[in-house]
Amino acid sequence: MSKIQMKTPLVEMDGDEMTRIIWKMIKDILIEPYVDLKTEYYDLGLEHRNATDDQVTIDSANATKKYGVAVKCATITPNAARMPEYNLKQMWKSPNGTIRAMLDGTVFRSPILVKGITPYIPTWTKPITIARHAYGDVYKNTEMRVKGGSKAELCVTNPDGTEERSLIHDFKGDGVIQGMHNLDGSISSFARACFNYALDLKQDIWFATKDTISKKYDHRFKDIFQEIFDKEYKDKFEEAGIEYFYTLIDDAVARVVRSNGGYIWACKNYDGDVMSDMIATAFGSLAMMTSVLVSPDGIYEYEAAHGTVQRHYYKHLKGEETSTNSVATLFAWTGALRKRGELDNTPDLCEFADKLEKATIATIEDGVMTGDLYLISKLDNKKKVNTQEFLEEVDSRLKAML
Ligand code: NAP
Ligand code: MG
Repeated sequence: MSKIQMKTPLVEMDGDEMTRIIWKMIKDILIEPYVDLKTEYYDLGLEHRNATDDQVTIDSANATKKYGVAVKCATITPNAARMPEYNLKQMWKSPNGTIRAMLDGTVFRSPILVKGITPYIPTWTKPITIARHAYGDVYKNTEMRVKGGSKAELCVTNPDGTEERSLIHDFKGDGVIQGMHNLDGSISSFARACFNYALDLKQDIWFATKDTISKKYDHRFKDIFQEIFDKEYKDKFEEAGIEYFYTLIDDAVARVVRSNGGYIWACKNYDGDVMSDMIATAFGSLAMMTSVLVSPDGIYEYEAAHGTVQRHYYKHLKGEETSTNSVATLFAWTGALRKRGELDNTPDLCEFADKLEKATIATIEDGVMTGDLYLISKLDNKKKVNTQEFLEEVDSRLKAML
């Protein structure tokens, strides 16, 4: 059988620990035997980030802008414990943060549904996709502790040099303050990314904030979404038979719980961070989530939503068997290959990605799964396999489909 050809390379961002091991296995077992894989490789493993003073992260984001599609392995965000472990020159910033800021993107996360794994909310029969704004708010904040007796004010120096002040609080006792911002440009990009994604998926989109309390900040988000929708998307949505609506976040939470799924829920940065963990857990597992960062100019970066699975990696290093779930990392690859195929007009590549996903789901629905799913699957005949065996089982089903 001749291998499937690619026109344009994918940007490949390698990562750390157990997911780095899985990364290589996926390529060796499931991709390279079938696809003449073209990638531009960037090693975002912590050692190499440290050796390049994190330049490699910036280079990989620039390459993503150039080629349009990237696939990223989970990476360590260093904390104090990692400093001696990797002999780091600095506590490097989160690569995801750096890449998100450079691409000004929106992160879309959806659960992968399989038979045998029932969501904790059993009425959720269709996936719920969270669209998370990936810029600003509390992630780019400035915070201070304040001594009692101090007065805290917001002060803006206008372009003409005049100042505008607004009292935050007259502190009688000690306390804390926080300043944060967002940009009309970034909010507009977020809105367009959401509306485009909804049209792509042909699904309704909801947007929710706390505009009743935050009458300027959150209200600005609400207004920008509505203006862009009315001007640019209303007709397209009608044609596609889908809906956009805004609601207060309290109401959204209640509606989500009562729903059957099958829509996109757009959230501000912090809400999206927290709600995507809630949705992932309620659907069963963080290892069964797809995650893609979409920039306003149509650049895509696919990744797994979970981390580097450090605990499993230390077992692996000791030569012990692991049963780590590779599905989210595998779907990052299939998502990227399919998008590359769409952009390059190479339907073979799209078809391969579809089949690889089907083979993966079929494996789990046949009762063959890693330990995390084995614990929650309600199938009668289920079997726990190790990390590599799972990928080999997927391969045997893929072979039969090709
Ligand atoms: P984690 O890697 O997501 O793992 C937390 C726990 O969740 C694991 O110990 C494991 O539970 C379970 N788990 C997660 N993914 C799994 C999988 N694929 N298969 C089976 N079980 C899975 O989070 P963490 O341990 O808090 O973080 C480890 C490193 O990842 C950190 O250095 C952090 O900075 C980094 N991180 C990276 C990203 C990213 O690059 N996208 C995201 C989050 C965290 P059991 O141990 O009980 O089996
Ligand atoms: Mg989170």
